[in-house]
Amino acid sequence: MHSGVAVSAPASASAIAGGGARSEAAAASRRPGGIRLCGLRGEALARGSLRISHAPAAARRVAAPRAAAAAPQNGAVAGGGFDYDLVIIGAGVGGHGAALHAVEEGLKTAIIEGDVVGGTCVNRGCVPSKALLAVSGRMRELHDEHHLKSMGLQVSSPGYDRQAVADHANNLASKIRSNLTNSMKAIGVDILTGFGTIVGKQKVRYGKVGFPDKEITAKNIIIATGSVPFVPKGIEIDGKTVFTSDHALKLESVPDWIAIVGSGYIGLEFSDVYTALGSEVTFVEALDQLMPGFDPEIAKLAQRVLINTRKIDYHTGVFASKITPAKDGKPVLIELIDAKTKEHRETLEVDAALIATGRAPFTNGLGLENINVVTQRGFIPVDERMQVTDADGNVVPNLFCIGDANGKLMLAHAASAQGISVIEQISGRDHILNHLSIPAACFTHPEISMVGLTEPQAREKADKEGFEVSVVKTSFKANTKALAENEGDGIAKLIYRPDTGEILGVHILGLHAADLIHEASNAMALGTRLQDIKLAVHAHPTLSEVLDELFKAAKLQPKEGQERKPKHPPQLLLKVLSFITSVLSSKQ
Ligand SMILES: Cc1cc2nc3c(=O)[nH]c(=O)nc-3n(C[C@H](O)[C@H](O)[C@H](O)COP(=O)(O)OP(=O)(O)OC[C@H]3O[C@@H](n4cnc5c(N)ncnc54)[C@H](O)[C@@H]3O)c2cc1C
Repeated sequence: MHSGVAVSAPASASAIAGGGARSEAAAASRRPGGIRLCGLRGEALARGSLRISHAPAAARRVAAPRAAAAAPQNGAVAGGGFDYDLVIIGAGVGGHGAALHAVEEGLKTAIIEGDVVGGTCVNRGCVPSKALLAVSGRMRELHDEHHLKSMGLQVSSPGYDRQAVADHANNLASKIRSNLTNSMKAIGVDILTGFGTIVGKQKVRYGKVGFPDKEITAKNIIIATGSVPFVPKGIEIDGKTVFTSDHALKLESVPDWIAIVGSGYIGLEFSDVYTALGSEVTFVEALDQLMPGFDPEIAKLAQRVLINTRKIDYHTGVFASKITPAKDGKPVLIELIDAKTKEHRETLEVDAALIATGRAPFTNGLGLENINVVTQRGFIPVDERMQVTDADGNVVPNLFCIGDANGKLMLAHAASAQGISVIEQISGRDHILNHLSIPAACFTHPEISMVGLTEPQAREKADKEGFEVSVVKTSFKANTKALAENEGDGIAKLIYRPDTGEILGVHILGLHAADLIHEASNAMALGTRLQDIKLAVHAHPTLSEVLDELFKAAKLQPKEGQERKPKHPPQLLLKVLSFITSVLSSKQ
């Protein structure tokens, strides 16, 4: 799953929902703002290189001459005889985040989109899936008689209308797509329709796939072409009984029994939706444990809370080598082979199968051969500044790649943050995004969130670099707000360096974990140490006190010569107390 920054920028994934108004404000005045990040990582991190940097992003900025910073608002003439200062290929959340910040920086900007604005996140990912999860959360509450009774509530026979639930997801995607489109139009980003291909240095053609008939030039190009579902060999997709998340989000059916192949965050979220709507779920996972990308302790607890208590069974250590859709009255057939020996294990017969085996970069047809760039497993190679590198390992000037297409961290807010980071560079302020401080979340009920390293990753790093690692945990059972909600199932775990107070990772499972993680991720992005954050004050009673407890529980080693001594010796305190007591008693 999939993790900070201190960039001055307004355009982030979270700016999408409030698109129009936010962008009009941005156009009206070019003023610095604060980047907002949130987020997921297991599957995503597994794909890309994990860069570990603990210096606050702001501290790692390098002064560089401002390039186009003095340029006027979008719509004006681009510099250097180019049609545009910036052309972005792909209008997903990555492209959108870059476009908004580019205009704020005065860059004449165009964005080319071959399908619908909003890309995966808005149309086939984060947005519709969270709409379905909102429904599944409500359904769970309404069906949890014990929970309701304990709060004195009674509800009789809750149900749902499948088409209305599907419409809720679809309508939300349309609304956010239109917000996103309007937010770019309002500030004058040129939205060009067609499939974009790079035909030479700083030159892009776009139009019908295979027949791009319009050509534009740009000082800088950002590739933001995203990803598509990855379907392993042997699996036949019919879109009805064997399908990917693209189809599942339309909720055309709620199968009685569905196999979910892959237990990463996408599979897990869908298991939450399907079981809440009445399906039985069977997970098929190639690795030996479920939820392989999560911190093992969190995965174990998640299994207890999110799997074992529900109508879910699972097969681990097996590959689905062949999946045949249901036809002629026969069910969906899933051939399972042992992941290690490759021997046949068994054949499952189910009503439907959701293939959630990860995402593949969408980089076909981009014309990379025209600029000597060779993809790696389909991903576009980039350096830490998202600059594309060619087949010889050299940076291709003025060409960047952000988001799922570079595979560093396949999350919406990471794509947007990378886009903003690139615009910072184009605008003359060198910037490196600290990917390790980008949070990730899985929106199950309860939610799971994380930032930084898992415990095994932290211990491995500590062994290599020779430092000590400490771990502390707190339970939601000790939190008043969680108990008031009758939601005590959950833990938060802090992994840190007791010698320096550096936060290495935070993992949370519990109510609103996806919102709670940001205190930790922002602390990591800004380089805040535990000795400082321990003293921060949290409102009572709030869930945020889970993290307050966690930070306060961390035991730090005093620096040599700085052993902690009570500021006031006990004798002195006793004297003060007895003086106060005597004054008070003399007044009675
Ligand atoms: C079911 C699901 C749930 C998810 N939930 C979350 C979540 O809760 N939180 C989260 O952070 N992430 C989530 N993600 C991941 C998130 O959707 C992606 O990380 C994000 O969309 C990547 O953004 P992007 O801009 O890189 O690419 P995309 O959003 O994929 O956009 C790329 C765009 O480029 C266009 N394009 C491609 N090639 C060309 C070309 N040559 N010319 C013109 N246009 C082109 C495409 O049509 C597309 O519109 C989820 C994904 C899925 C599938």
